[in-house]
Amino acid sequence: MEPIIKTENIKVIYNKGQDNEYIALNDISIEVFPEEYSIFFGPSGCGKSTLLYTILGLQKISEGKLYIKGRESSSFSEADKSNLDSQFFGIVFQNFNLIYSLNVIDNIALPQVFLESKKEVRLAKSKTLLARFGIETRAHNLPASLSGGQQQRVAICRALVNDPLVLLADEPVGNLDSESARVVMESIYDINKKDKKTVILVTHDHTFLPYADRIYYFKDAKLEKVVQNTHPKKMIAGAKNLQQEEASETTGSGTGDFTPFGELEKMARAHHFMTVPQLKAWSITNYLTDEFTVNQIERLEKFMEEMLAGKLSEHAFFEKLNAPFSEGGVGLYQGTAIRFTQKISSILREVGAFLQNLKNIKDPQESLKMVDILRKFLLEEYHGSLSQEQIQRLEKGIGERLAGSMNDLQFSELLDKSVSEGGIGLNTLTAEHLSERLEIILAQAYESN
Ligand code: ADP
Repeated sequence: MEPIIKTENIKVIYNKGQDNEYIALNDISIEVFPEEYSIFFGPSGCGKSTLLYTILGLQKISEGKLYIKGRESSSFSEADKSNLDSQFFGIVFQNFNLIYSLNVIDNIALPQVFLESKKEVRLAKSKTLLARFGIETRAHNLPASLSGGQQQRVAICRALVNDPLVLLADEPVGNLDSESARVVMESIYDINKKDKKTVILVTHDHTFLPYADRIYYFKDAKLEKVVQNTHPKKMIAGAKNLQQEEASETTGSGTGDFTPFGELEKMARAHHFMTVPQLKAWSITNYLTDEFTVNQIERLEKFMEEMLAGKLSEHAFFEKLNAPFSEGGVGLYQGTAIRFTQKISSILREVGAFLQNLKNIKDPQESLKMVDILRKFLLEEYHGSLSQEQIQRLEKGIGERLAGSMNDLQFSELLDKSVSEGGIGLNTLTAEHLSERLEIILAQAYESN
C-alpha cells in the first residue's frame, strides 16, 4: 500500500546559524498509511509536534523531503497548500483553539466558510456532527460555558466539518480529566474505524498506545523504532481500570485494593506481539510508570523480566534501579527505587497468590467463584447480551477449560458454535478474541512460576 504521508531523512533546525540553534528533528524517515491510526509517541520535547507541524506544512524543513499522497511538497502551489489546509487535514490541539466570541455551531462551521459553502449547508453539517458527538444541546452556547471535554469535542467537529482525509491530534486530551479524556479518545478511535480517516495522534501517554495500528517511538529528535500493532483494540475497560489503579495509588490506599484483573486487563489489550514473560514485565512496569522516559522504561522492563525469571533477587533489582543510567541502571533516586521495588514485590506476591489459587482450585465452591470472576472478565470485552442459556454454557466451558478437560481450540469452538448446535453462538472473531483473553490468564497461572 502506498503511504499517504512520507518523510525522507527530514531534519528540522530551529534558530539555524544562531547561538541557540537547536536540532528538533534529525533524519526522520517515516511512512504513514491511509486509514491507519498512527501514534507519534515519546517524552515531552522529543520533536513529535515539530514533525506534525512539518507534515502540515507549517514548519520549514531544513533538510530532507516530505511527500503527501506521493507528491513532493516543495512542488506544491499556493492553491495546493490551501487545499491541503482546508480539505486534506483536520487538526485538533491540546488547548482546543476555539474562538471564544463565537458560539459552538459557528466555531464548527468556520472552516466551511473558507470553502464558501452555503449557510444552510454548513449549519446542517455542523449540526450533524454535534449530534454525533453528543453535544447538540450546546449548539448556541459560547465555548467557555462548556466543560473541557465538550470543548474538545467541538474542536473535533470543527476538524471534521470539511470532511478531511487525515485527522491530526496533538496531545488532544492533555488538559482533560480522565473520564472526558476517555470520551474524546473513543471519538477519535471511532473516526478512524468508522469513518476510515487516517489518524495521527501525538502523545507522551503510553496508556493510549493500544489504540494505534502503528506506533512511532521518538527520542531526542530521532525516530527510535516503529512498532506495528496487529490487533489494535478498543480499551474502554482497560482505561477505566488504569484510572482506578491510579486513583488508588494517589489516595495511598496501597496494594490492598489491587486486583490482578487490572494487570491482566492491561496485558490482554494490544500486545499480542509480546511473549508472556514480556507481558508480565510490561504490565507491571506500566502500572507504576508514567514519568519515565522510553529508555528508562525499556530498562525497567528488562530488569522486571529478569526478576520474574528469578535471575535477579529483590535487592539486586533495587540496585539496578538505583544505578546511574550511564552505568546500565535505570537512574532512579534511592527513595524512588526502594518504593518501586517494594511495590513491585507486593504486586508479584498478590498476582502470585491469585495465580496460585487458580492453579490449585480443589474446593468446588472456590472453583465456582473463579469461574464467575473469569466469566465477568471475559464479558467485559463483549458488548452484546447473552441469554441465560448462553451464560450457563460459557460458565460450563470455562470450568472445563480450567479443569483441563477442554483445550483452547475446543473452548474457542464452543464460543463460536451456534446455539442450536450446543455452542454459545458468538461470531468467529469475538470467539477467538475472548478465548485468547482466557488463555492469557491461564498462561500466567501455568507458565514458569
Ligand atoms: P514534543 O512535541 O515532542 O514535546 P516539540 O516538537 O514541541 O516536542 O519540541 C522539540 C524541541 O524543540 C523542544 O526542545 C522544544 O523546546 C524545541 N522547540 C520547539 N519549538 C521551537 C521553536 N520555535 N524554537 C526553538 N525551539 C523550539
